[in-house]
Amino acid sequence: MTAKEKMAIEPQPMPEQNAKARARNMNEVALGYSAEAAKREASRCLQCPAKPCMQGCPVAIDIPGFLAKAADGDFEGALAVIRRTSLLPAVCGRVCPQEKQCQKFCTMGKLLKDVDKAVAIGRVERFVADWARERGTAAASTAPAPATRRRVAVVGSGPASITCAADCARAGHEVTMFEAFHKCGGVLVYGIPEFRLPKEIVRQEIDGLKALGVKIETNFVVGRTRRLRDFLDKDGFDAVFVGTGAGLPKFMGIEGENLVGVFSANEYLTRANLMKAYDEGGHDTPFWHGRRVAVLGGGNVAMDASRMALRLGAEKVYLVYRRSEAEMPARREEVHHAKEEGVEFLMLQNAKRVLGDDQGRVAGLECLKYELGEPDASGRRSPVAIAGSEFTLDVDTVVVAVGNASNPLIPATTDGLEVNRRGNIVVDPETNMTSIPGVFAGGDIVLGAATVILAMGEGRRAAAGINEYLAKKG
Ligand code: FAD
Ligand code: SF4
Repeated sequence: MTAKEKMAIEPQPMPEQNAKARARNMNEVALGYSAEAAKREASRCLQCPAKPCMQGCPVAIDIPGFLAKAADGDFEGALAVIRRTSLLPAVCGRVCPQEKQCQKFCTMGKLLKDVDKAVAIGRVERFVADWARERGTAAASTAPAPATRRRVAVVGSGPASITCAADCARAGHEVTMFEAFHKCGGVLVYGIPEFRLPKEIVRQEIDGLKALGVKIETNFVVGRTRRLRDFLDKDGFDAVFVGTGAGLPKFMGIEGENLVGVFSANEYLTRANLMKAYDEGGHDTPFWHGRRVAVLGGGNVAMDASRMALRLGAEKVYLVYRRSEAEMPARREEVHHAKEEGVEFLMLQNAKRVLGDDQGRVAGLECLKYELGEPDASGRRSPVAIAGSEFTLDVDTVVVAVGNASNPLIPATTDGLEVNRRGNIVVDPETNMTSIPGVFAGGDIVLGAATVILAMGEGRRAAAGINEYLAKKG
């Protein structure tokens, strides 16, 4: 096929649940490509010799390589190419911000002068991963190396830890994963909702770890149940990986934030996702029935919380963000889906204080209007409040989704573990080793709140660092 013929192929749309219906159910919104659509979309790839799309992929997947196989209908082969560098394609195909990564650099999008017409790399990735999973052939084929008799403790079970544990197990080490919650998966199970990432997919990835011989201890809070240094000094582990994420919610610091009916997005989503509060008959988790909900923030977490509020029965959901939509850090697809489902976006507005009734419950939200000023350190134009622009939103629930900080427990209970001023663990950028020999770290606990694919990349680098460290130890 010539480039001109490829350019003439229409981008394949993603089939989706109807917006009105899905806003009231927890089923996945995007339904996935058919094999025909996946082949057709993959065949749009121009096989550019310079592979610009790969520059945008944090783990440098051979994108034209896997698309060529998918275009030929060799989905198994396509998955094998992805698996060389990425452990969780069914997850990344669903949640990576492709429009800011691979697809942003895609020549097809540039030629058609529209990033939305770039080759839909993520959708094809998702299709090949699902195709193999449905046929029971998705497990990574690399068999573990001969046993080294070295023991590695992996703390946390999010994407950084899953990747590190898998790579260490494949290197022949005996790996035990310690997770504070009763279920493994980190943000993939407690934060990102079922309607974006079915939990069955994460469960199968965890089963894959078990098949590699990884032992799993849940309900185990490192720093409380056992201290980090005990692993090395008393329990016979030779190395430790810390992937405890950025699960500490930030608040606005405004009046009324302690009223009943104000939640951190973390608590709100954890109750709904991990504790299954949405299934009221089937689970015991108590839930607050917000009728009119304001979600504060503009990232993926804010989108998830606002869309979850609809699914939990809210009649009205506002998303309050102090900049304009152009500055929103959320994935574009999530913004689009939230709007379609009926979330009302209030841009260039922000909460000033939460109003309460005589029972100490939320009775409204006083907001201020904003305008954009000069760019700040992040390069985004900073919002400036307009004096005297106060107005009140009639809400009974406020969900604060203005960011997360690193979990402080392990640094606070581990002497000699260096952290920066934001509380992130400091590591050697080549090996991910911390200030304590034998202790490695990666993912959000090092980067601050980031992305799934970056966390996976960190887990992989740390595993390589652990292998090298253990080899030198002899
Ligand atoms: P996490 O996934 O946070 O996992 C850390 C794990 O460590 C948790 O299971 C935690 O319980 C456990 N833990 C913490 N402390 C201890 C302890 N002391 N002992 C034992 N276990 C402990 N990224 C994207 O790329 N796309 C998205 O669409 C996206 N949406 C998001 C939506 C939400 C609601 C949130 C919160 C984040 C989202 N992100 C998204 C960000 C992404 O999920 C994270 O960057 C990623 O999960 C970080 O992985 P991690 O392995 O470092 O940590
Ligand atoms: Fe294919 Fe786009 Fe990558 Fe070129 S940039 S190889 S068209 S996916």
